[in-house]
Formats: sequence, structure tokens, C-alpha cells
Amino acid sequence: MLKNPAYAGAFVYGRTQSCHARYASGKIISRRRKMTEWKIVVKDRYPAYLDWQRYERIQTMLSDNHAEYRRNQTRGVSRDGAAVLQGIVWCGRCGHKMGVEYKNGNRYVCNFLARSQGGGLCQHLPADPIDACVVEAFFAAASPTELAELMCAKDARRQAEEAFDRAEEQQIKRLRYQALLAERQYDRGDVTEREV
Ligand SMILES: [Zn+2]
Repeated sequence: MLKNPAYAGAFVYGRTQSCHARYASGKIISRRRKMTEWKIVVKDRYPAYLDWQRYERIQTMLSDNHAEYRRNQTRGVSRDGAAVLQGIVWCGRCGHKMGVEYKNGNRYVCNFLARSQGGGLCQHLPADPIDACVVEAFFAAASPTELAELMCAKDARRQAEEAFDRAEEQQIKRLRYQALLAERQYDRGDVTEREV
């Protein structure tokens, strides 16, 4: 669902390319083309679950996560720990992933070069003030969007429930009518044959 452009309403042809090689099963090996290499893209072709911009953002996110995973053989997502950015903070000086130390208060530490090449720490920063900024920024960014999305989701669910109720009502009406017809037919029938 995250990768198929049909969910963003687009018809796409040529997302894969065969590699002129086969698996042992005989199936042809193919690779996914980059979005920029897709042969035909017709947007707004199907009813969309998400808009095209969001679809593109998701693809970027997936590819970033993948690159991050390849680089560190670990996922770039937050982990447990008192510091908010545990596992997802990078050093502004050397670009390596920073760790967290819990001595003398929480602090973010860049010790990648120290560990891999010897020498001193690149830098370390107290975690609490950074975390406070991040939390504030997160809620500032998330709240209006989240609320709007929540309203949208609630609306959609209410509409779906109403449609379902209407369909049920129609079905009950149809069944009542059929019962009425059957009753009339029964009443019109010969009294002597009613047992049958
Ligand atoms: Zn560093």
C-alpha cells in the first residue's frame, strides 16, 4: 500500500524492468525502476486514498530509511531511553550518529571517530535543553495537522456508518415487503390446501 501508486490514484506502467536472468524456478528476475524512470504515469486515474504529494513524501521516507539501514545495519528510528533523540541524532560536525550517555545527566555524545580511529570525543551536548526544544517543536508541528486529520477520519467513519445504516434499512424494507407479499399469497390460497 505504501509503494503502489494506484493508492495515490495514479495509473503507472513500467515500474519494473526485467534483468534478462531467471530464478531457478524459471521466473524472470526483475528490478524496480526509480520513479523518475517510470514509463507512463497518469495521475488522478483512480479514487485516491492519499494525494500525490504525500505519496512522494512516503517514497522519500522509505528510501531514506533504507539508506540509513544499509549504512548502519540498524533502523534510524527512536529507541527506548530517557533522551528523546536516542538513536536518531547526528553530529553537526562530522555527520556520524550520536550516542547517549546517562552519566552527569543525559547527554548526546559523538564518539564514532574516537571509537573507530582513537583520539578524543568529537563533541558532547547536554540532552535536556535539546529535548525540550524538540518536544515543543514536535507539538507545534503536529497539533493542527493531527487534529485536522482526526476530524477527517471521524467524518469519513461517520459517513461510512451512515451509508451502512441506510443500506441495512433498505434491506429491512425489502424483506418486510417480501413478507407482506408472502402473507397475502398465503391468505389468498385455498383454505383446504393451507396445510400443504
Ligand atoms: Zn562528530
